[in-house]
Amino acid sequence: MKSQDIRSKFLSFFEEKKHTIVPSAPMVLKDDPTLMFINAGMAPFKEYFLGNAVPKSNRIADTQKCLRVSGKHNDLEEVGYDTYHHTLFEMLGNWSFGDYFKKEAIAWAWELLTEEFGVDKDILYVTVFEGDKEDGLGMDTEAYELWKQFVPEDRILMGNKKDNFWEMGDQGPCGPCSEIHVDIRSAAEKAKIAGKDLVNMDHPQVVEIWNLVFMQYNRKANGSLESLPDKHIDTGMGFERLCMVLQGKQSNYDTDVFTPIIREIEAITHKEYGKDEKTDIAIRVISDHVRAVAFAIADGQLPSNTGAGYVIRRILRRAVRYGFTFLDKKEPFIYRLVEVLAQKMGHAFPEIKSQKQIVENVIKEEENSFLRTLEQGLVLLNRIVEETKGDTVSGEKAFELYDTYGFPIDLTALILNEKGLKLDQEGFKVQLEKQKTRSRAASEMSTDDWTILYDDADEEFVGYDTLTANVKITRYRKVVSKKDGEMYQLVFNITPFYPEGGGQVGDKGYIEAANGDVTYILDTKKENNVIIHFAKELPEDVNGTFKAIVDDEERARTEANHSATHLLHQALREILGTHVEQKGSAVQSKSLRFDFSHFSKLTDEELRDVENFVNARIEGKLPLEEKRNIPKEEAIAEGAMSLFGEKYGDTVRAIRFGQSIELCGGTHVKNTSDIWHFKIVSEGAVAAGIRRIEAITHDAAKEFYFDNNQAYFEMKALLNNAQEPVKALQNLQDENAGLKKQIEALLKDKAKNVKGELKSELTEVNGVQFLAKQLDLDAAGIKDVAFELGGEVDNLFLLLAAENDGKALLSCYISKNLVADKGLNAGQVVRDLGKYIQGGGGGQPFFATAGGKNPAGIQEALEKAKDFIA
Ligand code: ATP
Ligand code: MG
Repeated sequence: MKSQDIRSKFLSFFEEKKHTIVPSAPMVLKDDPTLMFINAGMAPFKEYFLGNAVPKSNRIADTQKCLRVSGKHNDLEEVGYDTYHHTLFEMLGNWSFGDYFKKEAIAWAWELLTEEFGVDKDILYVTVFEGDKEDGLGMDTEAYELWKQFVPEDRILMGNKKDNFWEMGDQGPCGPCSEIHVDIRSAAEKAKIAGKDLVNMDHPQVVEIWNLVFMQYNRKANGSLESLPDKHIDTGMGFERLCMVLQGKQSNYDTDVFTPIIREIEAITHKEYGKDEKTDIAIRVISDHVRAVAFAIADGQLPSNTGAGYVIRRILRRAVRYGFTFLDKKEPFIYRLVEVLAQKMGHAFPEIKSQKQIVENVIKEEENSFLRTLEQGLVLLNRIVEETKGDTVSGEKAFELYDTYGFPIDLTALILNEKGLKLDQEGFKVQLEKQKTRSRAASEMSTDDWTILYDDADEEFVGYDTLTANVKITRYRKVVSKKDGEMYQLVFNITPFYPEGGGQVGDKGYIEAANGDVTYILDTKKENNVIIHFAKELPEDVNGTFKAIVDDEERARTEANHSATHLLHQALREILGTHVEQKGSAVQSKSLRFDFSHFSKLTDEELRDVENFVNARIEGKLPLEEKRNIPKEEAIAEGAMSLFGEKYGDTVRAIRFGQSIELCGGTHVKNTSDIWHFKIVSEGAVAAGIRRIEAITHDAAKEFYFDNNQAYFEMKALLNNAQEPVKALQNLQDENAGLKKQIEALLKDKAKNVKGELKSELTEVNGVQFLAKQLDLDAAGIKDVAFELGGEVDNLFLLLAAENDGKALLSCYISKNLVADKGLNAGQVVRDLGKYIQGGGGGQPFFATAGGKNPAGIQEALEKAKDFIA
């Protein structure tokens, strides 16, 4: 069966069982501080498990793009070396939110695998949670009894907490699970060792394919468990592994999910898969990583130097490195695989098709820049090798190369090996550990359990309509982090504070108690669909009623910037073309930033047009037309722009100013005239094919013009209030350039004169042409004169001195033949005489210079000069 059919069959099976089928959520999380990437099918549904929101259906099924490259689930280092772990993989899942439980989940999983897909029952094993003393939990007998109906008892295995108790994180919903494993070894292999002895033993052909999690507990901050009021089902089946089983292969990479990509790599690199283990690993790494990177970019996450972007950059660099080292690819080629991906996966994931061009561009540019880094690294490494005494390169040096220049350590080791040198691996590890400890300490954070004050699951957001509200605190908790110290997170029953999201910053403000005490709200964020207010301290009486007040000036500036962003988006599409797509935005009170796809630098004229377009709409006084909770289809039909990588519900909020319509959860001005004015302050590239505009509006624009005006008048005043200041400045510059030329000519003349003068002052001492004299020249001038004179006069010994800016200078020139015949040395001369000027210096035997802080000693130094030839 083809992989596409396997995917559809899974979904239609659960659709028949009354599940609502939903599309995969974007893999990159934008507004969740607790998670960077979706790492399991359940992650997009966290808010339902936590009871913070109600799902539209209590039975859901989907295939979810997952990425396991950071945090609690990190398979990166395995990928390529084994045949069944990927960075990006699809997790097929069925969910019950407080609806069916173990009985149905187990029966349906069995039915789907053995009847619909026809998997041979004899290759399947299932596991059941054996219980855990520490947690006070007994064995999951319920699951055991249910499995017994389908599976012989010797194929039901007991599993420990590590394998059979699933937890989302250190805290939160969790529960026992049952895994389904397959044994796809040959009969001969099976005769040697029984499959059940290999389950959960990291054997590449005895692998877990499906995990059925029975969510029935909540893990609290102190580590204890409490029962959840509603019990849920969360299952996850690895799509690529299922394809391996159903297509009768021994490796995920031999299924049609990967073979088209592998064929393309073979064609590009002229290497063959399946001939040599090192080449195979490299090909697997690249075929895997291109998927992760391409989908991340399609979801709007560009490679960068921090956070999620950095993780993506590292994955791509890992792929480049394997290509560079094992496939001899020294020029970009990974971007060329995106075409195959778009063809093969565009059907199930349309974003990879529509974003293909940009994904290719970004990957190519990244490849190019990393290949350049590798080249520079090679040069640096060669230098290190040259400087190394003995046969071992220090771990510190290798770490510097790795840390500062991004040069991979395995490549360093490989190259050193080729040169017959060793790498101090231990030393490197010590440095790496040190760095890890440093960054761990910086990001360490502890989170207390929520203190629930009263039960009110729905925290209503009223901040679109009002900036003040009477609120009660429904729950709070303390969080301690290195970065912010001790902070309190407060949740209200109702709140006017906008939580950071959709590129817009969170509101600031304060809450005021009945007695007038004020607690400042420093930031507002959303976590698992709950709006959290950050405060440095708790109010005295947490049970009281408070007046919540949003900082209205900050909010107004932010709104002006947000609405201007929409107009800017419209302007760019209008002026540059509809290939322009939003690739990110940051809306703050001070300024706005807008990233978009476009291939060349904007000309001055285009920038001017964009500004004019936006300002025309500001002057047009367009009223805000806001539609809350309209069906997404309706909004799209009206022409609203939606963004890739953004998670939208079925009902959306549409924001309209004239012809600009966007799906947007942010806050906006009531009328475009409130923006006052729009001014672009910069335009540049962020990545290949992606440009960034930074702009200001409102007060910031006023300030901008005021400051510029001020600077203009100051400049004009300095130009004696010239009628045409630009012309006056130009004249001044021309005059200046002319004067510079004159000075240069004069200095040359002067040196010539000085030379002539000096020549006439030479005296002969023991056959040496001698002069010791102080001159009014700088160090460079003295050197020139000395060398010029040296070119004309033989047997010369010069000691020239100068005083510049309160410092003394001595320069000694000795003809080369004197150096040889008489054993004279200018370096020695200035070192000896340096003591008179309280300084030192050195140079070559025929010319040397010393500097000192005592000009008063110059005279004595000059007097002593003759001693060297006397
Ligand atoms: P394993 O022990 O094999 O790493 P797991 O216990 O980490 O698996 P779960 O977290 O239970 O797996 O995820 C559910 C399913 O997702 C697994 O049964 C497996 O089929 C699939 N899966 C997990 N990790 C990966 C991965 N890195 N690549 C491909 N599929 C995976
Ligand atoms: Mg795992």
